[in-house]
Amino acid sequence: MSDHSHPRISEDILAQVKSGEMDSWTPEQILRWGFENFSPRLSLSASFGSPEGMVILDIMHKINPDQSRVFTIDTGRLPQETYNLMDRVRDRYAMEVEVYFPDPEAVQKMVRGHGLNLFYESTEKRRLCCQIRKVEPLERALSGLDAWVAGLRRDQNVTRENVSAVEVDDLHGGRIKLNPLFNWTRDQVLDYVKQHSVPVNALHKEGYPSVGCTPCTRAIREGEDERAGRWWWEQAEDRECGIHVGYEEQGSGI
Ligand code: SF4
Repeated sequence: MSDHSHPRISEDILAQVKSGEMDSWTPEQILRWGFENFSPRLSLSASFGSPEGMVILDIMHKINPDQSRVFTIDTGRLPQETYNLMDRVRDRYAMEVEVYFPDPEAVQKMVRGHGLNLFYESTEKRRLCCQIRKVEPLERALSGLDAWVAGLRRDQNVTRENVSAVEVDDLHGGRIKLNPLFNWTRDQVLDYVKQHSVPVNALHKEGYPSVGCTPCTRAIREGEDERAGRWWWEQAEDRECGIHVGYEEQGSGI
């Protein structure tokens, strides 16, 4: 039986990715390349809390509905609006949303040891919660994939300004990571949503441009950065959950 936990990436693909040529491609070209080279071991990672993931899902579905896959992590602390969107996607696109959950024993141990709201006490405890509720399930989701698709954009936050169209994701075993909207602006994303009637999280209309777990997300105020409502009590350079940026790269680890 083959080992599915390690990605199978050819030298030709690695050379192509490292050349950076995809930085001049459109999202459609990037995704078509992804389908051609990795399906069925390619999937979109969507939080159902930002319009970027929904735009990519819509583009993927238009290009190749049969091969389109989407997974998500249910941390157990998501708002009802996010669950509602997952079900809307199942209906509209007639596709399965592959939901991954945290290890219940790890959650139980963490909560018994540190309480339910540990994330407010320190960055280290917040990262521990993200590690157990998000990062570990993500690693399980990725274990059967050679490549994944994410909705990162360069202008979202200081932690994302060096994102490329396609990258070798050393944080996750050298898988290939596609960021088809890497150079889009927020306005381009919202224009696409409007033009194609893409379903999005209902909380965006209430001042939440980026929706994560309920206790760690607040609405933003006028003039604030679009990710200012995520872990708002922390410094901007710390505001990542360990999925896209390693904690070592942000400073101290857990
Ligand atoms: S965002 Fe908050 S509740 Fe969700 S996993 Fe991270 S620390 Fe825990």
